[in-house]
Amino acid sequence: MTDTDTITPATEGGRDQDFLAPAARLRGAGIGGIEELSDLQRSERLARMRDGSLGSIHSWELVTAVDGPGTRMTVFLNGCPLRCLYCHNPDTFLMKDGEPVEADELLRRMKRYRNVFRASKGGITLSGGEVLMQPAFAGRILAGAKSMGIHTCIDTSGYLGRNASDKMLENVDLVLLDVKSGDEETYKKVTGRELAPTIAFGDRLAAKGIEIWARFVLVPGLTDDPENVENVARIIERWGSSVSRVEVLPFHQMGTDKWDALKLEYKLRDALPPEPELVESTRAIFRSHGFTVH
Ligand code: SF4
Repeated sequence: MTDTDTITPATEGGRDQDFLAPAARLRGAGIGGIEELSDLQRSERLARMRDGSLGSIHSWELVTAVDGPGTRMTVFLNGCPLRCLYCHNPDTFLMKDGEPVEADELLRRMKRYRNVFRASKGGITLSGGEVLMQPAFAGRILAGAKSMGIHTCIDTSGYLGRNASDKMLENVDLVLLDVKSGDEETYKKVTGRELAPTIAFGDRLAAKGIEIWARFVLVPGLTDDPENVENVARIIERWGSSVSRVEVLPFHQMGTDKWDALKLEYKLRDALPPEPELVESTRAIFRSHGFTVH
């Protein structure tokens, strides 16, 4: 047993300090106690990643009131096709930079927290990076968690929504779906990719009646144009009653150290967090579309 096995549930309203990785979290930190597989041959490792018995993971942590309801075990998977200018986790960009972790070992760990999840109405959240970069592994974890009666959530941009099989989605209770901008041009500027796959994935979730929390990161001078926000709201509106809340996440400078450590160009170095008035007026736009906004 490690010290992480004896924790009490995380404190209300944020990430438990015991699990908060340092701002400049090093690769592999935060996976204490999960078996590492340094002796696997590369080809065998790739084959096992393809069949989903092995995943590439950055870290995991216990959180409360973020990444879904209740106390959650959020697992950050490595690999992401987007390059969001404001990314807090650039150290998850590449799948090869993660630590190999057995699906069974991760599920065993989740099992230990079942009572915490049950008592807090929480569960697990697969985040990243982009969870749908590793669909076989994610599918295995989601199915395993569901079979233990654990509430499941994925946190995704939806860009790789086509990687999520119908079978996988049967084991997803909630999707945190990031709509990073409302028009193609801004979306491309923010992420380097196209907006359409996100809309298509949201449409698919809505058709299946899967609960969505839509999320939007508010960056002054980048995403805050009311017209852009209005367009985001219109996209989310397509998904009707599947959307149970909209979260407006004010940009802040948390990831700067990581960008520097990776020697990547961080273009938002001088960007400031939005003023409370801007956050409020942005939330008001979503509210005017009838959404419950956080
Ligand atoms: S989708 Fe998430 S992990 Fe990927 S670049 Fe954007 S913010 Fe970072």
